Amino acid sequence: MPAGTTRPALILHGGAGARRERNYDREIVHMREVVEAMKARLEAGASALDVVVEATAMLEESGLYVAGRGASPNLAGAYELDASLMEGSTRRAGAVAALQGFKSPITAARAVMDRTPHVMLAGEGAALFAMDQGLEAIGDEAAWFTHAGQGEDNHPPGTLSHGTVGCCVLDTHGVLAAGTSTAGVFGKMPGRVGDTPIPGAGSWADEGAAVSCTGQGEYFIRVAAGAQVGWRVGSGQSLAEATRGVIDQIGALGGDGGLIALDAAGNIADPFNSQGMKRAWLRPDGEIGVEVFGR
Ligand code: ASP
Repeated sequence: MPAGTTRPALILHGGAGARRERNYDREIVHMREVVEAMKARLEAGASALDVVVEATAMLEESGLYVAGRGASPNLAGAYELDASLMEGSTRRAGAVAALQGFKSPITAARAVMDRTPHVMLAGEGAALFAMDQGLEAIGDEAAWFTHAGQGEDNHPPGTLSHGTVGCCVLDTHGVLAAGTSTAGVFGKMPGRVGDTPIPGAGSWADEGAAVSCTGQGEYFIRVAAGAQVGWRVGSGQSLAEATRGVIDQIGALGGDGGLIALDAAGNIADPFNSQGMKRAWLRPDGEIGVEVFGR
């Protein structure tokens, strides 16, 4: 597709579970590389949805974050992965929950959106569908997973420690999209599903805003975090006010985490109430930035 006239923008995250005692040099370099690659794609006219999938797949594949290759197992030792994505202009959405055995949950979510009449497939049904679609299987789990989260974050059982990846994009055609992919929280029960695969909670995109959340997913579900940002922006709040309001609600309930968001003008917001949130962005003026702890 030839490029449109809107100046593109993007923000991605590698999770809000960052700890001050740890060094994130590799993640910082990697996030910048992903943004630079996606900047070129957007300038060439790629759609927001395609860029969301490509950026998120790069984050999954890197093994540096607690999603995709860097996933952590549940309490039974199984890797159950979640992902979702949404396109603002059409409100099309796709998701997989508790998917086992496939390398790129975000790619599976895209296939659910494009090739089924459904929004979400879970568990065995999601895996059978992924197989049927010829998506890349993991094979030997011990060789594939990098265990990025093990030792990365201090995660005593029961604390809902976390790590996730996600991306929000405004393309040159003025379309917004968002996507998120995760292994969930550390020490989760078998079958536990968080906010990440739920459009309206972990991911959201409408005409006015795109949102990807990271943190203790139970709290993000309870406040409909992604959709709430969209509704607030739709009723006149700035993106900064809307996103801060939602993170404050999560904090008031006792939850922690953060979110990234973009509006239709290319404004970026990235509030969090945890110690840090790995993130990188491209602004409409072409500036690329990366941050973990600061604002
Ligand atoms: N929100 C994800 C979940 O609860 C975890 C994360 O963002 O790190 O599954």
